[in-house]
Amino acid sequence: MTPRASRPPHPSTQLSLVDDAPATLPEPPPPSGEAIERILEGLNDEQRAAVTHGEGPLLVIAGAGTGKTQVITRRIAWLIATRRARPEQILALTFTDKAAAEMESRVDVLVPYGYVGATIGTFHAFCDRLVRDHAIELGLTSQLRVDTPAEILVFLRERVLEFELDRYRPIGRPDTHLRALVSVFDRARDEDVTPERYLVFANQLLADAGNDPEKLDRAAAELEKGRAYAYYQQLLLQHGRVDFGAQISLALRLLRERAYLRRELNDRYRYLLVDEFQDTNHVQFELVKMLAGTGRTGPNLTVVGDDDQSIYRFRGAKAENLLGFIEAFPDTTIRVLKHNYRSGQRILDASHRLIRHNDPDRLEARANVDKRLVARPGVEGAVEHWSFATASDEADAVAADIAETLERGERRAADLAVLARAHSHLDPFAVALKGRGVRFRRVDMRGLYSRAEVLVCLNVLRTVADPNDGTSAYYALGDPLFGADPVDLATIGAESQRTNRPFLRLAEVRARSSAATDTTREAVSRFVDLHARLCELAVRRSTSDVLYEFVSASGLLGRLAAEDSAEAIEKVQNLNKLFRIAQRIGSLLRHDRVGPFMQHLDLLIEMGDDPAAAEVELDEDAVQLLTAHNAKGLEFPVVYVVQCAAGRFPVNARTNALELPDELVQGGRGSEDHLREERRLFYVSMTRARDRLVLCHSADYGGGRRLAKPSPFVLEALALPSPPKAAMPAHPLESIARYAPTAESSPPEILPIPDDQPLEISHQKIDDFLTCPLKYRYAHIAQVPLGSDPQYMYGIAIHHAVRVYHQHRMKGHPIAVADVIAAFESAWSSEGFYSREHEELRQEQGRETLRKWIAREEASKQLPLAIEREFKFRLSPLDVVVGRWDRIDERDGQIVLVDYKTADIDDQQEADERAKRSLKSEQLGLYALAYREMTGAPPARVELNFIGAGIAGRAIVQPDHLDKAERRAREAAAGIRKAQFPAAPDPRSCNYCPYARFCIHSVARNPGGAA
Ligand code: SF4
Repeated sequence: MTPRASRPPHPSTQLSLVDDAPATLPEPPPPSGEAIERILEGLNDEQRAAVTHGEGPLLVIAGAGTGKTQVITRRIAWLIATRRARPEQILALTFTDKAAAEMESRVDVLVPYGYVGATIGTFHAFCDRLVRDHAIELGLTSQLRVDTPAEILVFLRERVLEFELDRYRPIGRPDTHLRALVSVFDRARDEDVTPERYLVFANQLLADAGNDPEKLDRAAAELEKGRAYAYYQQLLLQHGRVDFGAQISLALRLLRERAYLRRELNDRYRYLLVDEFQDTNHVQFELVKMLAGTGRTGPNLTVVGDDDQSIYRFRGAKAENLLGFIEAFPDTTIRVLKHNYRSGQRILDASHRLIRHNDPDRLEARANVDKRLVARPGVEGAVEHWSFATASDEADAVAADIAETLERGERRAADLAVLARAHSHLDPFAVALKGRGVRFRRVDMRGLYSRAEVLVCLNVLRTVADPNDGTSAYYALGDPLFGADPVDLATIGAESQRTNRPFLRLAEVRARSSAATDTTREAVSRFVDLHARLCELAVRRSTSDVLYEFVSASGLLGRLAAEDSAEAIEKVQNLNKLFRIAQRIGSLLRHDRVGPFMQHLDLLIEMGDDPAAAEVELDEDAVQLLTAHNAKGLEFPVVYVVQCAAGRFPVNARTNALELPDELVQGGRGSEDHLREERRLFYVSMTRARDRLVLCHSADYGGGRRLAKPSPFVLEALALPSPPKAAMPAHPLESIARYAPTAESSPPEILPIPDDQPLEISHQKIDDFLTCPLKYRYAHIAQVPLGSDPQYMYGIAIHHAVRVYHQHRMKGHPIAVADVIAAFESAWSSEGFYSREHEELRQEQGRETLRKWIAREEASKQLPLAIEREFKFRLSPLDVVVGRWDRIDERDGQIVLVDYKTADIDDQQEADERAKRSLKSEQLGLYALAYREMTGAPPARVELNFIGAGIAGRAIVQPDHLDKAERRAREAAAGIRKAQFPAAPDPRSCNYCPYARFCIHSVARNPGGAA
C-alpha cells in the first residue's frame, strides 16, 4: 500500500496527536551535569542501569517494593536531561488516571526547568484521542460517544429483537442474556478476535462436527454468538457509540490499516515506556508493538512490570506478556530489581515461598532469572500466624492488638492496615474497631446513587417528573433536609395506600390539620413550596438547572459547603458527579427536561448503572481497611491479612454465564489459572507489610456446615503441614453475627499537604486562594457545583473556533469562514440559556463576531508562533505551576503573549487598563513569568485581545511584574499546603463570587445575582 500523505483534517475538528506536535519555541538552557546527577541520586546499581539504559528494548522486572515508579519516572527525566529525547518525543502509558497523574507530577519535579511536555497518560485516554482524531479513517464520526456498560445494555435492550438470536433470546424476557453476551464480546475484543474471525472459528466447528450431536450443538451456539458479535459491533458503530474497551481495539485497527499514521507516530514518539506491563491484555500488547516502531537497535521501548503482581486476569490482563515481550524482542536487555526497600527479609522469604507454587508459569522459572527479593541489611521483619475458633474472636483479637499498639504509642493509626479478599470480609473488623473507638477508614462500596445526598436529589427530581410518585415524596420528606416526622409519614403512607390518593396531596392536607406534628407541618410546607417552584422551572429549563435550583434553594449545598470536613467535601463532590450525569444524559435527550431524564436514568439504574461515588484522598491518621486489590501499590508498617481460610482466600472459582471459547484465547486458558491468580493476590497482600505481617484465620465463619480450613496459601507461605479434615458444625451464634449491621468509617479530617508531596497550582487556583481561601476550598477541594453560565459556554465555543482557525492557518491548510463557524457550532452547548430566543441571539452574535474577527486576522497577515500551548514550571522542587498560553506571537523580533477574551469591552483605554492590571497582579503576570521560566527570557509584551470589538489591550513586561507574579504564586502555594481556608469576605470579592448565594460569610450586596 502506498503511504498516504497527511491531508487537511475536517475543519470542525481539532488537529490530531501528530499534528499537535508543538511548534518551535526558544529552547530552555541545556541542563547541567549537576542536574543530571541529581536525577540519578540515591539509585542502587540495578536501578541506575535501568534508568541509564541507552537504545533498544528494555524489560525491567521490578519486584514488590523495589522502586519501580522511581525507575520509570527517573528514566523519563534522564532521557530528557541528557537530550536523548525532547519531552514531546516521549510517550509513557499506564492504566489509571491516578497513576498517570502521579507519574507526571514526579517527572515534573525531576526534569530541569522548562523541559516539560512528555505525553503521559492511560492507554484509554491515548487511544480515545487517536480514534477521535482519525475517526474518518475508520468510517466513524469524531463525535464518538463512550458508553458505560449500563448505557450499552439500555441501548441494546431496545434493539434486542433485531439480533438473530435463538437460544440466547428466551421468549419471556428477550434481554435475559444480553449482559452475558456483551461480556463475551468484550473478552473477544481483548483477545483481538474480530467478528470475522469468530465466525470463521464457529463455521470450522460446524464443519468438523460431523453427526456428533454434542459438537453440532456447540457449533450452533458459537455461530449464534459470532453472528450476534458482528451485529453488535456494526450497530454500535453505526450509532457513533463505543464502549470502554473498544477504544483500544479501534486504535489498533487504525495503526494496522494506516501505515502513514503509524509511521508518523513512530517518528514522533522516539521513546515509549509502559508501566505495570503485567496488567496489559493481548490487544494492549499488540498496540505497544505497533507504537514502538524500530530504532537502530530495535525499538526504544521500556516496559516495567512483575508477573507475580499480575492480579487483573478477570479484566483480560496477561502476566505472560512479560515473557511474550522477550520473545517479541529477542535483543531485549533485562534488568531485575531485587533490592527491596520495603519489607523485612522474613516477610520477603515467606512471600517468595508462596509464589514459587506458581512455578513453572512464572518468569523466574521460564526465563531463568532470579527474582528473590533482598531486604536492606539487618531488616528482618516478623511473620505471625494467628488461629481462632470464630470470626468474632478473630475480629476482636485484631482490633485489640491494634488498640494496644496505638495506646502504647508504638505506631500511628495510618501505619496499620487490615487486608481481606472481599469487602464483606472486612465488616466484623469495622465493627470491632468501632467498638474500641479506633479511628479507621474504609472504602465505601455504596455507589453514587445510594449516597444520601444524591438520593434526596433523585427523589425530588422524581416527584417533579411525577408529583404522584408517593414513594419518592415519602423519602424526600423523610430526609433530614426536610425532616418530617417518621410516624406522620408512615400514617400518611398507609392512608395513601388505603384510599388510593396521592401521597403528596394527603401530606398537604394533613399538614394543615392538627393531626400532624409541628416538624411535619414545617417540612411539608417547605417541600410543597419548593416543589411548586421546581415544577414551574422544569417546564422551561434543563434538568441540571432544576437540580441546581433544588440544591441551592433547599439549603443542601449551603449546609455542606459550610461544613469543614472531608465527609462534607465528599458529599459535594458526589453532587458534582450527579450534575455531570445530568448534563451528559441531557445532551442526548431530544428535550432536556426532568421527565425524560428521570425515565432514562431509572432505566440505566435498572440495568445496573451505579457510578463510583467520590472518594476524597486525604493523608489522614486512620487504620486502613482494604481489599487485596485496593491495597496494590500501597505499603504499611503493620499488615493483618484476615479471614485467610479456604473458600475465602482463595475464593472459589466462578464461571461466567457465557465464555469465550478456549480456542480463541491467546495461549489458552489453563484450569489452574484461577488458583494462580489468587495466589498472586495473596502475594501482593503479604508484600504490603514493612515490619510485621499477621496472617489470621478462624475455624468458624458461620453459614457453613463445616469448619473452615486455613487457606492453602498460609500453609505454603509458612511451610506448614496440611491440617486434618474438620467436621465440627459452625456455631449458630456465629451465623447470626454475620448479619450485624456494618460500621461506617469515622469521618476523616483535612490535613496539610505533606512536604514531600507535589502540588500543582494554576492561575485560577492562585487567584481564588488569594482572593478568599474559602472560595478556593469551594472551587478546588469541595468542587461545589455551579449553575450553567451561558457566558462561559459562549467563551468555550468561540475559543474552539479560534483554535481551529489558527491550527489550519499555521499548517498551511485552507479554511473557509463557514468552516470556522461550523467549528463554533460543534462546540456549542445550550446549557444555561434562559430561552431558545436567548440562545439563538447569542449564537448569531458569535457567528458575526467570528466573521469580523477572521476578516481582521486575514488582513493582518500575522501568523502565531504557537497557539494553546501548555506550560508547566517549578516554583520550588515540589510546587509546579501549570497553565496555557492562548497565543504566542513574534512581532518585530519580540515575543508577545496574547490572551483572548470574549467580554464586551469596546473602549481602548479600558482594554489597556485591564491588560496592565492583569500583568501587574493577575493572569498575564503569571503567564509572562511562565514564559521566562520555560524559555530563559521574558516576553516583551502581553496583550488582552477582546474578540468581540476587535480591541487589544497592551502592556509592556517589566522585571517587577515577574517578581510580583512569583511572590503571589509562592504565597498561594504555601497557604494551600497548610490546608487552612478561612473566609475573607469583602464586598469587592463577594459581589463577584459564584458561591455568594449560599456562603454564610458572604457580604455580597446581591448574592442571588452573583450565583
Ligand atoms: S462569598 Fe465572599 S466570603 Fe464567601 S467564599 Fe466567596 S469571596 Fe469568600
